[in-house]
Amino acid sequence: MIIAIDGPAGAGKSTVAKIIAQKLGFFYIDTGAIYRALTLKAIEEGIDIRDTTRLIAMAKDTEIELINDQNGSLKVFLDGRDVTLEIRQPRITKLVSDISKIREIREIMLGLQRKLGSTRDSVLDGRDIGTVVFPEAEKKFYLDAQFQERVYRRYRELRQLSQDVTLESVEDDLRNRDSIDSSREFAPLKKADDAIYIDTTHMSIDEVVSKVTEHIQKAK
Ligand code: C5P
Repeated sequence: MIIAIDGPAGAGKSTVAKIIAQKLGFFYIDTGAIYRALTLKAIEEGIDIRDTTRLIAMAKDTEIELINDQNGSLKVFLDGRDVTLEIRQPRITKLVSDISKIREIREIMLGLQRKLGSTRDSVLDGRDIGTVVFPEAEKKFYLDAQFQERVYRRYRELRQLSQDVTLESVEDDLRNRDSIDSSREFAPLKKADDAIYIDTTHMSIDEVVSKVTEHIQKAK
């Protein structure tokens, strides 16, 4: 069974997806982490973000692994190296949407995501899971929240990771990524026609998890 959870940054996708996966004993696949890992590699290799040819060659020659810990947290490996924390840094967040908008990069990553999801029951969170990666997913959700609420959530999350961010920098980042992710030509952020839309602005995590669980149980 595939459960797809899409939506913009700060809508609560990854927190909810992780809890749902743990509750059901499913594999949790954070697809944003895949694009983040690629971005880290591009920076480390000094590849110009506009050099699409080199970026595509790099993506073809990259191994990304996602591992679920016993306690439900996700570990991300880039060519065998644990990059779980590094990929959350602002320097990655700033560039990730410019790399993820490249069609060939998405095609290469599509194969990886489908392979990961087809080996076992999975919950995937991302931007195009219900529309492109697994359009046949049994259950699809689109989590959303008002812009300012998403900014606060992301700000609190990053401060907890001891990142020296300001509300303004988080606001700029979300506005920039919302815009690139929604307007790109290939697999833009979009609600699938058959996805259940949940506005989480005034909901707690527990409430969102309950609502999602209710719908999943209905589907069985
Ligand atoms: O989910 P997260 O905010 O970590 O995703 C980082 C970026 O990766 C997004 O802003 C988007 O550019 C890209 N992404 C994507 N498609 C996905 C998941 C993430 O393009 N399925």
